[in-house]
Amino acid sequence: MKIAIVGFGVSGAALLMALKTSGKLDNNDVQVDIFDPRAEFAVGPAYQKDTKYLLLNAFPTAMSLNNNEPLDFSNWLEQHYPQYEAKVDLVPRTIYGEYAKERIEPLLNLDNVNYYQQEIIDIDTRQENNSLLYQLEDVDGDLYDDYDYLFLAVGVPDYQDFYNLRGTPDYIHNPYPVIEKLKDIDEDKHVAIIGSGLTAFDLVNYLSHEKELTQQIGVFTNRPEFNSLRVPPYPGAKLVYSLDKDWINQELQENKGFIPLDRIVETVQADIIANDIDLDAIRAKYDPVDLDKTYQIYFGHEHPELSKVQAYIARLSPNLGDLYMGLTKSDLVRFHLDYAPLFAHYQVRLAPDAVENMYHLTKQDKLFIVPDLIEIEKDKRFTLKSLSGETFEADIVINATGFAYNTDLITKEENALLRKLLDKGFLLDKDKRGILVTWPETQIINQQFGKLDTAFYIGPWLTNTHFGNNNVKALVRKANEIVDNYMG
Ligand SMILES: Cc1cc2nc3c(=O)[nH]c(=O)nc-3n(C[C@H](O)[C@H](O)[C@H](O)COP(=O)(O)OP(=O)(O)OC[C@H]3O[C@@H](n4cnc5c(N)ncnc54)[C@H](O)[C@@H]3O)c2cc1C
Repeated sequence: MKIAIVGFGVSGAALLMALKTSGKLDNNDVQVDIFDPRAEFAVGPAYQKDTKYLLLNAFPTAMSLNNNEPLDFSNWLEQHYPQYEAKVDLVPRTIYGEYAKERIEPLLNLDNVNYYQQEIIDIDTRQENNSLLYQLEDVDGDLYDDYDYLFLAVGVPDYQDFYNLRGTPDYIHNPYPVIEKLKDIDEDKHVAIIGSGLTAFDLVNYLSHEKELTQQIGVFTNRPEFNSLRVPPYPGAKLVYSLDKDWINQELQENKGFIPLDRIVETVQADIIANDIDLDAIRAKYDPVDLDKTYQIYFGHEHPELSKVQAYIARLSPNLGDLYMGLTKSDLVRFHLDYAPLFAHYQVRLAPDAVENMYHLTKQDKLFIVPDLIEIEKDKRFTLKSLSGETFEADIVINATGFAYNTDLITKEENALLRKLLDKGFLLDKDKRGILVTWPETQIINQQFGKLDTAFYIGPWLTNTHFGNNNVKALVRKANEIVDNYMG
């Protein structure tokens, strides 16, 4: 049996690890070929070699590559970096990269695993004895024949280009790795960062620690509020949690294959009461506010109630995909309008060190925040305009506006494989927000053959199906589910 893994970031690595831990790789008739042009394996852009000032946003206990050993990364951290608290510290992402490579390297040395440092640009199919075989073509035109199984794990979308700046001189569209993309910034220039999410914190952390900028950094956003911060883990007894697989299956049965949003909301509310969480008080204290208020709320205080909420969300995370896929179209719309922004505020958690750093920079007049950016133009310099009528000049603009999930925006230059596979109907788009797959198997839906039983897709492009999946825990869990349950 021949298996192809295209893309070897965390998802590809998790698939290979799952093939090992499931015992499938111990069978010498199995051959796994892995393709990725990146110089470093198993890390992708998030955990590649970069500055130490880019921090994890999840506890080490949520970052194991081995589904059977949830504390694998924490244990590794304890051994290799005893200076950290191995269960709770938000350590540099490069350290996670070291761990991933150390765990994956022995698997790459197996006789039945081949690693090709190549970009795949096309995939074709061939029918033989009622089964479909996959053929891959790399960027040099070399062909790799007849795979029984195909795993596509080609990673995150490109960044958004809200202000049509791509290709403009002195505009940095994709800032990673920051040690390469930002290293030549002249320290006397005015730097503007657009966006105020996780990437903006990475950029400010790097620039303020590694560069001696003489001018204030400007952070320009159209969202004045900041996400919640990660607070220490909840130390109490296990929380009451109802929305597990059994509950989901029962709801699906009782409601003709759907889960009413109102049932989800009322069940979460009942859990919250059972867990003695005062949601109104939490919201009054922690709902989105600006950086100043965020700092005042979090620093110098304990947050036992919020840590309980974060623990509850952690319980909910593995079921998010099933719950999301149980909604009707109208409930989906209602979810996105009424609940998703607030849920995202509490689910995405910023690293406290990075927030504290940004706050102190504002107090030292080394950084300012403009919360109502509406326009950017470039003549000799960039001009950034705010809704309140102010105008700012900058020499360099760095993009931190998040990913573009509309498949129409994928260009041949930026992602030749996805463009090609979407154009020829090997992959289909899902509502202009990601790629269409079956759920929960994540099998590819193909225009010609329908569901491909032996071709799977995994990763951030499934956000409109595998909701809330862009984190290591969700990807590792899905990789194992595919290998254990759906490979046949
Ligand atoms: C900046 C950043 C920080 C993050 N921090 C955290 C965190 O702290 N904790 C957490 O849990 N999650 C975090 N995440 C989310 C999550 O861990 C990543 O998005 C995750 O790494 C996705 O893994 P992936 O393998 O699906 O994609 P990627 O990591 O993007 O890897 C995809 C790989 O596919 C390769 N590829 C692409 N096209 C082709 C092709 N045509 N042929 C061959 N290979 C190809 C690429 O070279 C790449 O190596 C972060 C994400 C980002 C972007």
